[in-house]
Amino acid sequence: MATNRTFTMIKPDATAAGNAGKILDIILENGYKVVALKYIHLSTAQAGAFYEIHKERPFYNDLVSFMTSGPIYAAILEKENAVADFRTLIGATNPAEAAPGTIRNLFAKSIDANAVHGSDSDENAMIEGAFFFNRFERF
Ligand code: GDP
Repeated sequence: MATNRTFTMIKPDATAAGNAGKILDIILENGYKVVALKYIHLSTAQAGAFYEIHKERPFYNDLVSFMTSGPIYAAILEKENAVADFRTLIGATNPAEAAPGTIRNLFAKSIDANAVHGSDSDENAMIEGAFFFNRFERF
């Protein structure tokens, strides 16, 4: 089922660098409404479960270790065509390939410390949003 919601995280690098406010501003300026928001420091078990899909990839341990290195902001965002438009707004996974003006182009340092997460499908947006927020925390 298609929805107009996506899920994002402002990752530990961008949070530690003090860029969370600027990134949230860009998100809001691009027409997204924040319908859930949480500031959280993930445990290894939580980050491992969130990225379970990448368990067999060579970068899995580095990814989990990075995502637990400091607090993050997790949010559910609402807008028409939310998932695809947000992927465009954040840019390519590797910031060296991210288009000028995209969030990763502006704030990411490397392929692992790449500032933000954005769901890659409506199905994953729902799964990922539900991972972080119960139904009393989404509006
Ligand atoms: P995304 O959907 O653009 O976030 O990219 P993926 O779902 O493919 O990967 C999830 C996350 O794993 C990325 O955002 C990166 O932080 C990390 N990642 C992906 N590929 C690599 C890689 O080749 N090396 C490292 N160290 N991290 C990676």
